[in-house]
Amino acid sequence: ADAVRDRLRIAIQKSGRLGDPSRALLTACGLDWRESRDRLFCYGETLPVDLLLVRDDDIPGLLADGVCDLGIVGRNVLEEQAAEREQAGAPAVATELRALGFGGCRLDIAVPEDWDWQGPGQLRGCRIASSYPQLLRRWLAGEGIEAEVVMLSGSVEIAPRLGQADAVCDLVSSGATLAANQLKPVLTLLRSEAVLAGPVRPFTDARAGLMQTLLRRMDGVMRLRH
Ligand code: ATP
Ligand code: ZN
Repeated sequence: ADAVRDRLRIAIQKSGRLGDPSRALLTACGLDWRESRDRLFCYGETLPVDLLLVRDDDIPGLLADGVCDLGIVGRNVLEEQAAEREQAGAPAVATELRALGFGGCRLDIAVPEDWDWQGPGQLRGCRIASSYPQLLRRWLAGEGIEAEVVMLSGSVEIAPRLGQADAVCDLVSSGATLAANQLKPVLTLLRSEAVLAGPVRPFTDARAGLMQTLLRRMDGVMRLRH
């Protein structure tokens, strides 16, 4: 992980919600790559900045292992990983360097539409389905609520209809998916968007300068967008 490198490696989502906007942002920063959209690795042409196209969930781990230097990932994924490391007593390895203004969503608690919502205390003793067990557990602990966390990696919003859970803790943007499953959002645990994640400790090789160049350009692009 501490090998000296003279190229910067950025992990982005291969497809999904963040793939295209991540690539577009880096292109706007003047980067380009030998075309290989279908490949895992894209070799940087104008600057020695390469891309790794991966599943978003893998990005924090790739940063932790030093396989990648920077990553563009949802704050929700980054924070879940950070909470998991904290829980395991492992040191923090990746931190949010910039918020990027796309991929906006919330991590919300949602309950069946027919519940008469009285507040968090109502979740006491409930089973809550989520793909973000660490963030949910931490919030429950902070509120002093004992509830069962049901970890599901997908299709969280149908869990109540299937009888797997009483409530959910899931990502929400428009709320249409919740409504389609007769659920209503009642609380927000985290406001999320795509972020640039990078190392806690600064680089000591050529990557330091490359990162500075990239951050300066990114700040310029972000200013123009707002
Ligand atoms: P992958 O195949 O890379 O694992 P995925 O299906 O896990 O993809 P996406 O659904 O593309 O991931 O979501 C990627 C990120 O987009 C989320 O982690 C979140 O930060 C953001 N996002 C924005 N709006 C939503 C939403 N309504 N639902 C889920 N994620 C959202
Ligand atoms: Zn994913």
